[in-house]
Amino acid sequence: MNIRYDSHLHSGFSGDCDTPAAQMIERAVALGLDGLCFTEHEDPDAPPSDCDFSVDFHRYFSELRQLREQYRGRIRVGIGMEYGIQPHLPEAFARLSREYPFDLIIASLHNLNNMDPYYPSYFEGRPERECYEEFFRVQYETLKLCDPASFDTLGHMDYIVRYGPNRNKYYSYEAYAGYIDPILRLLIENGKCLELNTGGLKYGLGEPNPCVGILRRYRELGGELVTVGSDAHEPEALCYSFSYAAELLQTLGFRYYTIFEQRNGRQIALQAN
Ligand SMILES: [Zn+2]
Ligand SMILES: [Zn+2]
Repeated sequence: MNIRYDSHLHSGFSGDCDTPAAQMIERAVALGLDGLCFTEHEDPDAPPSDCDFSVDFHRYFSELRQLREQYRGRIRVGIGMEYGIQPHLPEAFARLSREYPFDLIIASLHNLNNMDPYYPSYFEGRPERECYEEFFRVQYETLKLCDPASFDTLGHMDYIVRYGPNRNKYYSYEAYAGYIDPILRLLIENGKCLELNTGGLKYGLGEPNPCVGILRRYRELGGELVTVGSDAHEPEALCYSFSYAAELLQTLGFRYYTIFEQRNGRQIALQAN
C-alpha cells in the first residue's frame, strides 16, 4: 500500500461513533501509517435523529493534543473536522474555521431540506433521479456560498448514491454530468481538493465516493488535488482499499495525493508499487 495517511475518520467525538480515538491510532500504528487525521462530525441543525452531531471542541482538542504528544515520533495525529454544510451555515462554518486550529476541514453535504438521505424517507414518493439531481444542485449552491478559505476538501461528493433505492445501478458521471461539472469546476477554480472516500467500496457500491467517472472528469478538467480517506467509524475500516485507491489515482493520471497539517496542503507522490 502506498497511501500511508488516512484523511477521513471518526471516533467517539462524533455522534454516530463509539470508537475511542486511541483505538483508531493504535490500529493506524499497526498498519504502519505515517499519519491519520480525525475528522469528526459537526452538523449544526441536523434533522432530529438518535445522534448528536455536535462536537465538544474543548474536550476534542485537549484529548487529541494529548494523544498527539503520546504518539509523537511514531505517527502523526491530525485534528480535523467534517463539517455538514447547509445553505444557511457558511457564516458559522467560516467562524469555526477561523477560531480553531484544525489540520484539515472536509465540507460534506449530509442534510438537505431538513432530511438526511441516509434515511429512506428522503426518497419516498419521488423518482430517484430527481433526488440525486437535487442533491448535486444543493451541493453546488451551498458550496458557492461557502468561503473557500473555510474548508480544504469536498467530502464523498456522491454520498447520496450510497442510500438511493437503486443505489448506483442507474447512476454514472455521464448521467449527471450537467450537475457534476459545475461542482468540479468550482473546486478547481478555488484550488480545493476533491476527496476520494473509500467508504463507497466498503458499502458495496463497487466504486469509491465519488465514482471513478467523476474522479476521471475532475482530472480531465485540470483537477490535481485529492485527499484520500476511509471514513472509518471503527478501527477495522481504517485505510479500507487504499491500495486500490492508489492504483486508481495513478491510472487516472494523478501524480500525488494531498495531506493537510494546520490547513496547509502537502503533496505526497503516488509511486508505482
Ligand atoms: Zn460524511
Ligand atoms: Zn465521515
